[in-house]
Amino acid sequence: MEDNYIIEMRNITKVFPGIKANDNITLQLKKGEIHALLGENGAGKSTLMSILFGLYQPDEGEILKDGKVVKINNPNDATALGIGMVHQHFKLVECFTVMDNIILGAEDSVAGFITKKKARAKVEDLMKKYNLHVDLDSRIDEISVGMQQRTEILKMLFRDNEILIFDEPTAVLTPQEIDELMKIMKNLAAEGKSILFISHKLNEIMQVSDVCTILRKGKYIGTVKTSETNTDILAEMMVGRHVKFETDKDPAHPTKEILKIDDLVVRDKETKKNVVNHLSINVRKGEIVSIAGIDGNGQSQLVEAITGLGHVNSGHIYFNEEEITHSSINHRTKLGMSHIPEDRHKHGLVLDFNLAENFVLQRYLERDFARHRCFINFKNREAHANRLIREYDVRCSKWADTIARSMSGGNQQKAIVAREIDRYHNLLIACQPTRGLDVGAISDIHKKLVNDRDNGAGILLVSLELSEVLNLSDRIYVIYEGEIVAEFKDNNVTAQELGLYMAGAKNMFRDIKKEDK
Ligand code: ADP
Ligand code: MG
Repeated sequence: MEDNYIIEMRNITKVFPGIKANDNITLQLKKGEIHALLGENGAGKSTLMSILFGLYQPDEGEILKDGKVVKINNPNDATALGIGMVHQHFKLVECFTVMDNIILGAEDSVAGFITKKKARAKVEDLMKKYNLHVDLDSRIDEISVGMQQRTEILKMLFRDNEILIFDEPTAVLTPQEIDELMKIMKNLAAEGKSILFISHKLNEIMQVSDVCTILRKGKYIGTVKTSETNTDILAEMMVGRHVKFETDKDPAHPTKEILKIDDLVVRDKETKKNVVNHLSINVRKGEIVSIAGIDGNGQSQLVEAITGLGHVNSGHIYFNEEEITHSSINHRTKLGMSHIPEDRHKHGLVLDFNLAENFVLQRYLERDFARHRCFINFKNREAHANRLIREYDVRCSKWADTIARSMSGGNQQKAIVAREIDRYHNLLIACQPTRGLDVGAISDIHKKLVNDRDNGAGILLVSLELSEVLNLSDRIYVIYEGEIVAEFKDNNVTAQELGLYMAGAKNMFRDIKKEDK
């Protein structure tokens, strides 16, 4: 019975130049339901939701609200129908307060002056009702990503939206913030809101959703009740083949020390606090060494110091026995340091360059890519790009000519991984290499990392994903407030135990020192 559904998208097709992003997709959402939308990067999830939110017009198909066909020409139409969306990349005004962002575009006014009193009372009620607390007077650029997301959610609720779309809301959150968000979503559904939730994290989908619709390469694969499925089935529907969650790997055979960090201190320029605090670690060739920790415990500054993107206050960094503490990035690159950066847009790719250009960013003057090290050899550059696209399964519409910006996040990431592993290196610094990726892509990248280790590279993996750390590491350091608080060899540690060190509840070295006394 169709009037059962609060939203029905029927036979939706959307074509972009060179790609059918949605190919005859049907999605049915019931009131009070949490409906997950699962699919690999580029499967067409954001496109489908953008159509529901009025950002794109479908080429074919129709949308029904409460059983009646509606036309959603723009986001204002969507809002009028009670449809709200939290985008993958938030759309907030950074220099405005939380409150001003919430009411932006929906302000009350008296004689031309904005009045906030009524609005504020409403927002405060919403915060209480849904357990969604934010400091309304803080500016967006002062608050955490988790709080910014709450602001977006409040924005939707303030507009009395009944249908809430979350596009990959957990990709940017810490594990603790993810737990909170799951609770908030359940709360919203219990209060009668209907939720569409995009994710490719199978555990989250199992934890929070009632129903799950799976898309693959723009096509509708199926809809299943979460209580009647499991992660194996979902993964297979999503990627079209059996996925192994554990990476096959043989024991490591580490050889020579390739990276040595000795008593490193990085001080924050504003707070003057040691964000990396007398830290010493090492990495040998042929092993994967992880740094586990909760976001914001000095990982980023440590990596910036190693790769040359940031500053060092004291201490030493040695690469293959050569001191590089203050060397240029170019010098480090030439010595054989590869880097998969945390922020793929800022440091990983030039978004307006095509893949051919992005794949030779550090190498365009090498003999293979420039005749007389001066004139670009377009043919070689293109062949090089097409080889990497094939070997690393980078999904793109125009091969070497694809502009990086036009690709989905997961495929951008695969491109970076391809470039950094393929070029000459003996140390790979991999920061959140699978953040925001689906299981298929994660498993592909993990295989490449293990392979790289087996080919003799040393790998320093900085990751917030405990499953990734446990799956890949030969050795694990735990970082807390800029200090190494634990080291585990041969992976003989559980996630729970790691969690205690990550949260600062335990410190292996401090406890030993105490015992020594
Ligand atoms: P998902 O959200 O599942 O990762 P998207 O819906 O973002 O996937 O993208 C589906 C496909 O459509 C991808 O191949 C993507 O590159 C392409 N695509 C998305 N938006 C546009 C656009 N505005 N122009 C051209 N191609 C697009
Ligand atoms: Mg998307």
